[in-house]
Parts: sequence; structure tokens; C-alpha cells
Amino acid sequence: MSGIDNLPPLREVIRAHDIAPKKALGQNFLLDLNLTAKIARMAGDLRGSDVMEVGPGPGGLTRGLLAEGARRVLAIEKDPRCLPALAEIAAAYPGRLEVIEGDALAINPLAHLTPPIKICANLPYNVGTELLVRWLTPDIWPPVWSTLTLMFQREVAERIVAQPGTKAYGRLALLAQWRTDAKIVMDLGPEAFTPPPKVSSAVVHLTALPAPRFPANPATLNRVVAAGFNQRRKMLRAALRGVAPNIEDHLNAVGIPPTERAEQVSLEQFCALARSLDGQ
Ligand code: SAM
Repeated sequence: MSGIDNLPPLREVIRAHDIAPKKALGQNFLLDLNLTAKIARMAGDLRGSDVMEVGPGPGGLTRGLLAEGARRVLAIEKDPRCLPALAEIAAAYPGRLEVIEGDALAINPLAHLTPPIKICANLPYNVGTELLVRWLTPDIWPPVWSTLTLMFQREVAERIVAQPGTKAYGRLALLAQWRTDAKIVMDLGPEAFTPPPKVSSAVVHLTALPAPRFPANPATLNRVVAAGFNQRRKMLRAALRGVAPNIEDHLNAVGIPPTERAEQVSLEQFCALARSLDGQ
């Protein structure tokens, strides 16, 4: 017994199913079930919600999510070695856990879930940012999910919540903060994982806003932000020259000094610039 359920401790599970962690799959496992239950609680009240988990591995966070009352968990795992361990969890929680073997970058089973939907994952670091960007840029907003509760390297977590005037501020902060409330809710040292990674980690909780914080066309906003930060040391009048020949007029019209650098420009100002470029 493990404390949160009647299943064996995770070290035994890993031994029994011979799941030696593989670096290529970003496998740094959480084996403390009290910690995984705590991360599951960071996702909010799970009762009455479907949860999508990416990369359940041997199932520590999966067990946390189920023990905390998730109505249903849909988990996508790339490593077939983990499937027998996950099948044991599914048997202990009849009808509440479905596991799909596959690459989360290639399949998106969100449409198979019933709202409210939460996404919760200790993400493989090599695909974490890419998945976050996809979840933040659906064709229609608000998205099908209501919250994202995700583990990242601390440095990536800082880029998500960064404010203007800091080194971490950039495209990821603007993308996340435009359409969500994003905050770091937990810090974890390397020792929390097996094997310990080289860097510290943090859990970020993002709540989808009903509408973007400020109006702007997503494609235009993305274009100005990308151009601004691709050459972040350049003044905006130079960095954004390719976006519009009369960019200085637009910058002046919305009150951004053309000599400013992207790092100093707020989300509200970037949205105003995007609207000006669109003639709004
Ligand atoms: N959730 C488990 C935990 O907290 O102990 C495992 C987390 S481990 C950091 C990342 C997991 O994602 C591994 O089980 C790995 O096999 C899986 N994974 C890696 N790349 C994946 C991908 N593209 N799609 C789905 N799962 C993937």
C-alpha cells in the first residue's frame, strides 16, 4: 500500500515492470505519491472534470489525479514499457483511466473528453514548450480546456510568467499572459525526481481567460512579437522594419517610443500596436 491508494509503491512498480528511466524520453520520474497528489491538487477541484495527462510514465501523477477525484483521466504515453503499470492503475479505478500509446505531438485526443477539461502533466522537457504553445494557440478561444497545470524546468516557468524589463520576458510570456492567468505554484529541486535532472523545476498553473486580455488579431500580434524579440537588442523601429514600412508612425500612434526595445513593451502596448497595424 502506498498511502494514497491500494497500489504498490512506485519503486516496486518500476522494478516489477523493468522501467529503467530513459534519458531520450525525458524520463525523470516522481516517485513520492504525496508529492504527486499535491501537484494534482494544484490543478484545482478535479471532481467533475476530465483530465488529460501527457507522459504518465509509471503513473505517479496519474494516481494522484485519480486519488484526488478526477472524473476521468486520459493519458498519452510514448513508452510502451509503461503500459502494463498503467493497466494496473486502470484496473484499480474501473472506468476512470484510459491510456493511449503514442506521441503527444502527433495526436490530440482533447476532442474525446467532456468539459470541464483540465490538462495536468509532468512534461517531458524536450516537448513541453511545444505542447504549451499548441494549447495556447487553438483556432478558437476560449479553448476546450479550462486549466493547464504543468511541470517545466524552472527557467521555462520563469519565461511563462515574466514581466517586461526582465531577461526572461519574451514571446512565451506574451503568448501565455495574453489569454491566461499564469502563475508558478510550486518549486521542486532536482532531488524530487528519479533520476535527478541537472536543473530545478516548477509547476505552472494557467487558467484560460474567457477572452484575450486585450483585443488583437492573433496572427498580427504574433508577427510583431516575433519580429520584436528575434532581434531583442535592436530598437523597435529597426527590429519591426520588415513588419510595415511606416512602423514608426504606428509606434508613435500607440505611444510606444520607436527607440524602445521589445523587452520594455507591455502586452497591452503590443496589442495596441497589432490593432494599429490592422487599421483598428
Ligand atoms: N508523469 C511521470 C512522473 O511524473 O513520474 C513521468 C514524467 S517524465 C518527466 C515524462 C514522461 O513523458 C515519460 O514517461 C516519457 O516516456 C513520456 N514522453 C516523452 N515524450 C513523449 C511524447 N512525445 N508523447 C507522450 N509521452 C512522452
